[in-house]
Amino acid sequence: MRGPGHLPQLDATGRAPGPGLRQPATFTYTFIDSTPALGADARRSDQPGELAGGPAGGPAGGPAGGPAGGPAGGPAGGPAGPLPWKDREQSFQPPNSAGFAPLSGSGSRRRASYRLRDRLRVWQPNIHQKLCGRCALGGAVGVELVGDRARYQGLATCGSVWSCPVCSGIVRAARAEEVQKVVGWWGQDRVLLLSLTVRHGLGDDLRKVRKGVAQACRYLGQGREGVAIRALWDHQIRALETTHGANDWHPHLHLLLLLPAELDAEGIESMRVRISARWQLAVERALGRRHVPDDRHGCDLRPCRDARYLAKLGLELADPDTKQASNGNRSPWEIARDVAQWNHPRDIALWQQFAEGMHGARMLTWSRGLRDAAGLGEEVPDEKLVGDDQGDDVAERVAVLEPAEWSVVCHVPGASAVLLDRVEAAARRARAGGVPLVPEAREAIARYLAELGAVEARAG
Ligand SMILES: [Zn+2]
Repeated sequence: MRGPGHLPQLDATGRAPGPGLRQPATFTYTFIDSTPALGADARRSDQPGELAGGPAGGPAGGPAGGPAGGPAGGPAGGPAGPLPWKDREQSFQPPNSAGFAPLSGSGSRRRASYRLRDRLRVWQPNIHQKLCGRCALGGAVGVELVGDRARYQGLATCGSVWSCPVCSGIVRAARAEEVQKVVGWWGQDRVLLLSLTVRHGLGDDLRKVRKGVAQACRYLGQGREGVAIRALWDHQIRALETTHGANDWHPHLHLLLLLPAELDAEGIESMRVRISARWQLAVERALGRRHVPDDRHGCDLRPCRDARYLAKLGLELADPDTKQASNGNRSPWEIARDVAQWNHPRDIALWQQFAEGMHGARMLTWSRGLRDAAGLGEEVPDEKLVGDDQGDDVAERVAVLEPAEWSVVCHVPGASAVLLDRVEAAARRARAGGVPLVPEAREAIARYLAELGAVEARAG
């Protein structure tokens, strides 16, 4: 697999997607219209992206969770009401629950995530997201079938769990499956969900605060009391999440705590009080007094009874395309969709803040020894999960797109997903009719390229 480190500096159309495309927060619509790359993309219809039908692929489901234990008592109480400094908690809407698909998906979900990736491309501050799924590393682009699924071979992939709609869906689906396995293996009734937040306000630097939150989490387990608290559970899985609300970016942590035994409500509350006191000290040490949360809002501890913990961890796989944010809050993916739809300068600036502030941050951290104990083995890096070299040798090459052909495809947002749909449909036809696969797929691709060419001609 070719990692981001090998990316050339030109995109597939030969344009240099350099930092010139990144603009500060003072956009004007005049600028948008006068930017050749964006102007071309924005004018183009993506109707061909809607032409193909395809089976709606479901997300790759993980194994069923462990036995749903019925621990007595309710969770620790939530916030009594909104405070000026506290974002109202909102569930992070991961790409694959917002109409995007993991690698194995197809149909409308895949089209939505590919189209969003294409439309965000010009505003991405990082070169790897600009080129992901577009830059042909060897000039030509292969189209392969693995079972019923079509995929490209030879394209750059970015592997970003934060700012790439396509890669994020793939990575989160794989991580969700692993987390579900662990929770099932341990027994859900012995798992608690701990949420740790800090006070934050307008103008706080996202990168600084999210690093401070991670540092505070390390401080939490230090010192005599910290070590004693950490000994209350055997293992943990830590997830970083960032939401956006009236008080700007809100990076916070959710931890799954794997306890040696089930706790009742009283035990959970006394544990929460102990963690909360320690958390306040840790936050003060890592970020300063200004960021210290109050007892109720800084630390929440509750049983992990159902599958909603996956949503908390930013790993929810279930449909639907429902909006979960409220009170004017938006998840980063909602901001991304608004950028794609409206190109509003404020949203673009927010998205770039998010992409830059979260770049390099680790989404999921496993306590030492947990993966081995649970039989998961070594963690596959995000970049490897999204690469086209998955170690399978069953991929069947059905076509090669020459650079000129690929250039036509990647000029229309979402078209690269539709082409995969067409190839999958051609494969089904070929199998049903007992005819050779390659000519059928090649013909389907030629037809689609002709449709795209007609759109190009109309737009030009
Ligand atoms: Zn990507």
